[in-house]
Amino acid sequence: MDYAATAPLDEQVLKDMMPYFSEKYGNPSSVHGFGEEAQKGVIEARQQLADLFGSEISEIAFTSGATEGNNTVIKGIAMSPKVWEMHGGKPHIIVSDIEHDCVLDSAKRVMKDGLADVSYAPVNKEGRVDIEELKKLIRPNTVLISVMYANNETGMIQPIEEIGRMISELNGSRDKKIYFHTDAAQAVNYLDCNVLRLGVDLMTISAHKIYGPKGAGALYIRKGTPIVKFMDGGEQEFRMRSGTHNVPGIVGLGSAASRLGAYKEKNEEIKKLRDRLIDGILSAVPRSALNGLKENRLPNNANIRFEGAEGEAILVLLNGSGVAVSTGSACAAKSLSPSHVLKAMGLTDLDAHSSIRFSLGRGTTEQQVDHVISVMPGIIEKLRGVSGSFASTDSTSSPQAGSPHTGQAAQVTSADPADLPRDDDHHQENVFWDDDVIDRGGLPADLGCEKNNIPDKEA
Ligand code: PLP
Repeated sequence: MDYAATAPLDEQVLKDMMPYFSEKYGNPSSVHGFGEEAQKGVIEARQQLADLFGSEISEIAFTSGATEGNNTVIKGIAMSPKVWEMHGGKPHIIVSDIEHDCVLDSAKRVMKDGLADVSYAPVNKEGRVDIEELKKLIRPNTVLISVMYANNETGMIQPIEEIGRMISELNGSRDKKIYFHTDAAQAVNYLDCNVLRLGVDLMTISAHKIYGPKGAGALYIRKGTPIVKFMDGGEQEFRMRSGTHNVPGIVGLGSAASRLGAYKEKNEEIKKLRDRLIDGILSAVPRSALNGLKENRLPNNANIRFEGAEGEAILVLLNGSGVAVSTGSACAAKSLSPSHVLKAMGLTDLDAHSSIRFSLGRGTTEQQVDHVISVMPGIIEKLRGVSGSFASTDSTSSPQAGSPHTGQAAQVTSADPADLPRDDDHHQENVFWDDDVIDRGGLPADLGCEKNNIPDKEA
């Protein structure tokens, strides 16, 4: 029950990809027959994505996944000379408090590098961005607003269409356009991704969340959006993303995207199973609660907190019962900090630490759901019995949203080590690639890296 982390490859998708590993192995940029054959696969995939987004084919750039797509958007816009020229200096970017780390860390990076000022849009206790609060953050030099379509931890669907409408109305009375980006990595399985209806200028998706291959993704970029390319080199992807195409991955992404519509009924079944899981657990386990609401939630997500039981321990015991779940984002699975998403919703550190994300998918069965419902009471009872200090601390206060980024903190109820003063980041800095190493001006010469300069080429 960890389909939000990744999904297995759809059998048909695998079949569609197979020839591009062997007989159709050409480089799509080559002008000869082998190249043309590979290029056909890329062209078809581009059309499949244009159909998904309701866009032109020239507005799609293939990437290695949503992390690259999101990095490209935040950094590419902040680094755009056109943007700097338009605003006569440093632009301003708004991202929501609950974005995936790849958005938050990119925003932090551009802020640290002096490329943009960043504000964080708060969410309410249900985990949804408050449009009025978001509106208050907009400045004359705001160039980009990035709000994810659905959150990867809670599954809470964000009011993207409403935000798109609000921005479009504002743009009508401003001479400097605000661009709107949404990370649709989790949403695309279940929600309409027509970019015109949603009013977005940029949209990120990833293949492995939609039963496609890992290491492939796409970025929709509305024509005319000022953004510098992330990869310098060749002329691929309309000069937006250099590098030889990952043809099997791209074909797999296109195939997976084209098959999404066939799963509408399946998605209804997933939702029923999800509700069975939520209702079953909440009635079987005392002092458990759903984080967020059932409404405006992805049909496959159940994020539940179990007062007095530690999330990692629940995960281990569930694993022992043959059930795979997660305590939050797979990318932050090794972080000991409480979830920035749950903290932003106002949960205490303890409540955040006692939360589990169950995410269902096409392969989830009623038997699996009932198995989870049957093992949960025993697991929680056992943990509440052993984790005295965890259980004895008051974590019952009602949620009150607070930003983990602005320091407008949610309530803290214990001397949890995670509450000790630390970096303003939402999780620990990566100790290997720490700031001294990745600081653009400070790359060690022996790594052969050059200083980063704002690129002069634009797509
Ligand atoms: N954005 C969201 C909302 C995600 O859930 C994920 C993956 O968990 C990503 C971005 C990163 O995607 P990828 O694994 O394709 O880099």
